[in-house]
Amino acid sequence: MPELPEVETVRKGLEKLLNDFYIERIEVLKERSIASNGGSKTFINNVKNSYLGNWERRGKYLIGSLLTKEKISKGFLVVHLRMTGQFKLVAKEVLACKHTRVRFFDERGRELRFIDIRNFGQMWFVPSSKSVPEIVSGIRRLGPEPFNADFNSDYLEEYLRKKTRSIKSALLDQETVAGVGNIYADETLFDAGINPKKESRNLKSNEIKRLCNSLVKILKISIGEGGTTFSDFRDLEGINGNYGGQALVYRRSGKDCKKCGEKILREKICGRSTHWCPNCQK
Ligand SMILES: [Zn+2]
Repeated sequence: MPELPEVETVRKGLEKLLNDFYIERIEVLKERSIASNGGSKTFINNVKNSYLGNWERRGKYLIGSLLTKEKISKGFLVVHLRMTGQFKLVAKEVLACKHTRVRFFDERGRELRFIDIRNFGQMWFVPSSKSVPEIVSGIRRLGPEPFNADFNSDYLEEYLRKKTRSIKSALLDQETVAGVGNIYADETLFDAGINPKKESRNLKSNEIKRLCNSLVKILKISIGEGGTTFSDFRDLEGINGNYGGQALVYRRSGKDCKKCGEKILREKICGRSTHWCPNCQK
């Protein structure tokens, strides 16, 4: 599943490749991909005849601005890739594969194609009269962005103070901090030397400080590498990231810990495969 670094990589690609993309025509091949009220009919009517402007990211959501020909705001196109959603820029008319869900065509015949094997990805149209969180309820519930000032050890300590759930489970919860998923939760906990099963409320102040620093550090490294090679993640040009090759614990169960040589363990915690070193993470 794409997490913050992968979504950020997609965001950069959308902004780089689509700054003069004028949506002239849209085909929705799977109704389920459109999550905003009115379904594909309302979506198509509002999103077509728009320029794609800047793209922002909030957690794992992509937020594209829609502009008129005169470059006046019309609202937003919001996308969540979920498990397997990906965008591809198709230069010439190429037949859509069976996992193609939504197709955006510009005046020059270029196509921005949304492909989604598992079909959990979602798109919303948000009119300029509304705010994005008003329409997209998942965004209302997001915790702070890891790179913003409101994500810090004071916040996290207060937030986790009464939580009995494991720290792994807390990190996966988008209300704790936005954008973290299974890969970066495991990598961060290893880097911070914290056992993923530890009860959140039992973390000491210095552990929480380390956790905050490690999370920001690991996410920045991965963004620099263009996300990971794991799963089916690809950027718009079909290239996958490089972070996977340097993963510390993720998908390394049975292999030697890169710090101490102990065997990396793997176990399901809150339903997700979790990887850690029993020696380095107490
Ligand atoms: Zn170790």
